[in-house]
Amino acid sequence: MAKRVPEPFKIKMVEKISIIPKEEREKRLVEAGYNPFSLRAEDIYIDLLTDSGTGAMSDRQWAAIMIGDESYAGSRSFYALEEVVQKITGYKYVIPSHQGRGAEQVVLPNLIQHKGQIVLNNMHFDTTMGHVLLAGGKPVNLIDAKAFDTETYDDFKGDFDLPALESYIDTHGVENIAALIITVTCNSSGGQPISMANIKAASEIAHKKGLPVWIDAARYAENAYFIKTREKGYEDKTILEISQEMFGYADGMMMSAKKDGIVNMGGLIAIKEDEEFYNICRSTVVPMEGFPTYGGLAGRDMQALAVGLEEALEYSYLDYRISQVKYLGDRLREAGVPIQYPTGGHAVFVDCKKLCPQIPYYEFPAQAVCNAVYIESGVRPVEIGSFLLGRDDETGEPLESPLELMRLTIPRRVYTNDHMDYIAEAVIKVAKYAHTLKGFEFDYEPKVLRHFTAKLKPVK
Ligand SMILES: *Cc1c(COP(=O)(O)O)cnc(C)c1O
Repeated sequence: MAKRVPEPFKIKMVEKISIIPKEEREKRLVEAGYNPFSLRAEDIYIDLLTDSGTGAMSDRQWAAIMIGDESYAGSRSFYALEEVVQKITGYKYVIPSHQGRGAEQVVLPNLIQHKGQIVLNNMHFDTTMGHVLLAGGKPVNLIDAKAFDTETYDDFKGDFDLPALESYIDTHGVENIAALIITVTCNSSGGQPISMANIKAASEIAHKKGLPVWIDAARYAENAYFIKTREKGYEDKTILEISQEMFGYADGMMMSAKKDGIVNMGGLIAIKEDEEFYNICRSTVVPMEGFPTYGGLAGRDMQALAVGLEEALEYSYLDYRISQVKYLGDRLREAGVPIQYPTGGHAVFVDCKKLCPQIPYYEFPAQAVCNAVYIESGVRPVEIGSFLLGRDDETGEPLESPLELMRLTIPRRVYTNDHMDYIAEAVIKVAKYAHTLKGFEFDYEPKVLRHFTAKLKPVK
């Protein structure tokens, strides 16, 4: 039976949400071109589009907002943030940025030395891949193949394929590789964790060959929770100790603080000890993000982030958070809905290729299920499949995604376990008639990043 972990908080302020009538939802979805990205937030009852910047701040974070110091240079709030980041990472140098991609646009062009240089990752997140390409680099993913087997349980589906990593570096030559990035948890494989043993081994391989190692740390605390609860030898360590050990294996970190920083906007760069690289980044950050003691953030943002980073280390919070995602996944599994198993840290992924065998990939089976869930319940999921993937650059042919997934992304501390039941019941209901759903074709298709603004229509 799916287990509920009670929320380790009580609610001091509420925000009204309401569900518009079904006929209205149908109308709004047509107006949105059958693309939930184009819906207005007020037409949505429970919003599972993303966990990025959608978390609820605590009373302590809101209190911190009031003591933010808005000095342009040398803000007190920067030093408060710096102290917390130094404690968690053990790194010497800290630079804020406006969000994760702000950190990427500063760090990646400085890591990539020449055109065509390769960046290795267990799996690049979209914006990280984008910034590698913009900097003239070549992103390469070396995640273990177990990540793509959605049905077989594995504790750590974010792990690197270590033999592939070693031989990749040998065959391509270390001079053609800029860095190794370790993404914790691995967003693109469904928030799946990477084990400490694997982080350590990957870092040793890279360091032995002379490559710098960076951590993409958006969900570092969620990854530490998985290590504590699944990896032998870590049961009795605190989340802080585990985080410190993880960061200890790398030379620097970039972070989207909109995830485990539990703030609505913010990012971070931290560098272990390389003063020269820090100075380079500090010069780059000025024209891009702002003076190095604010990096695109208001003083109050930094003050709230300092508190959020601490709160994300609390075991009771993480246990509730990860268990809530698992609870939703377990309820779906018990009802026979195929999901990626086990659930990761921040989302449940429903396998829509299995639910809709009648819809070919170029008519977007997962999009059909997302739309049906919205119509059924007012819940907004997001498609991660062939609709998102786009077309082949050269031939213009539609690309086929290996998986057609509907992502139910859970914001932090926002929805209760009763909301999870509501979501589960809606998805279970849709799953029963998913084999009768029709696919979609384009009414309007933008050339790049089409999934954000495309308009669709049902196939006749
Ligand atoms: C969200 C995310 C980013 C980008 O951060 P933004 O704050 O959205 O710019 C980078 N890497 C990972 C793993 C992420 O999840």
